[in-house]
Amino acid sequence: MSRIPLISGNWKMNLNHFEAIQLVQKLSYELRNHDYDRVEVSVHPPFTNIRSIQTVIDADRMKFRLGAQNCHAETSGAFTGDISPAMLQKLDVDLVIVGHSERRALSGETNELVAAKARSVFAHGMTPIVCVGETIEQRESGEAEVIVEGQVRGSLAALSKDQLSEVVIAYEPVWAIGTGQTASTDDAQAMCSHIRSVVADIHRPAETKVRIQYGGSVNVANARELMAMEDIDGALVGGASLEAASFARIVSFQEV
Ligand code: PEP
Repeated sequence: MSRIPLISGNWKMNLNHFEAIQLVQKLSYELRNHDYDRVEVSVHPPFTNIRSIQTVIDADRMKFRLGAQNCHAETSGAFTGDISPAMLQKLDVDLVIVGHSERRALSGETNELVAAKARSVFAHGMTPIVCVGETIEQRESGEAEVIVEGQVRGSLAALSKDQLSEVVIAYEPVWAIGTGQTASTDDAQAMCSHIRSVVADIHRPAETKVRIQYGGSVNVANARELMAMEDIDGALVGGASLEAASFARIVSFQEV
C-alpha cells in the first residue's frame, strides 16, 4: 500500500508574524508543482502567526497544509492562555501536533492527556500528529521499544478504526531532537516498523494506512536516506524547517 508522505515543519517558538510570512513565501517559491504530487507539506507556525499564514496560503493558493503545534483538549472554558481546537479549525488548520516531547517534558503532558487532545482534534475535523519517542537513558537501558509502544497505545487510546488509519504518528527519539544527533536509518526503521505492528495489534488493517514520520535532527544530509525506509512516511522537521531552501530540499527528496 503506498502512503503519501507528509513532511511537516515545526517552527516551534520562532518567528514573529512578519518573519513567518516571509518564510512561507520563500518556501512556496522554492517548491515546484511536481513536488506536491509526491508529498504533502505542512507548516506549523506559533499560534500568533496562524491567521497571517492562513491568509497568505489562501490568497496565493499555496498548497501547504496548515498546522498547529498544540491545542487544549476542551472546546472552550476557563483555561487561561490556552487555545481550543475549535479556534484552530476556524482558521483552516487541519493538522495539530500533540504530545511533542518538549510538551511532555516541560509541561508534564501524559499519554492520557495526549489521547484526549488527539480525540478532540479529530472531533473538530482535523488530524492529530501524535509524537512519541524514548529518552537516551531509555534507549541505553534497552527499554526504547517498550516505552514507545506504551506511548503509542496510551496516546491513541479510544480512537476509532478510521481515526487510527488517519492519524499521523511522529517517532521522535528525544535525544535526537534539536541535538544534531540522528537515529541511524536502521534504528529509525526498526522503531517505525514496531509502531506499525502495534497499530496492527490495536486495529487491523489501520497499519497499512497510518503514516509514521521520523523526527529528530532531520536535515538535507540525512533526509533522503531516512525517508527511503519502508516504514517511514515522511518527517517532522524542527530546525531545518526554519530555512526555506533546506526544507524545500528535504521535501524534494521524498519519493513515494
Ligand atoms: C521537532 O521539533 O520535532 C524536531 C524534530 O526538531 P529538530 O528537527 O530541530 O530536531
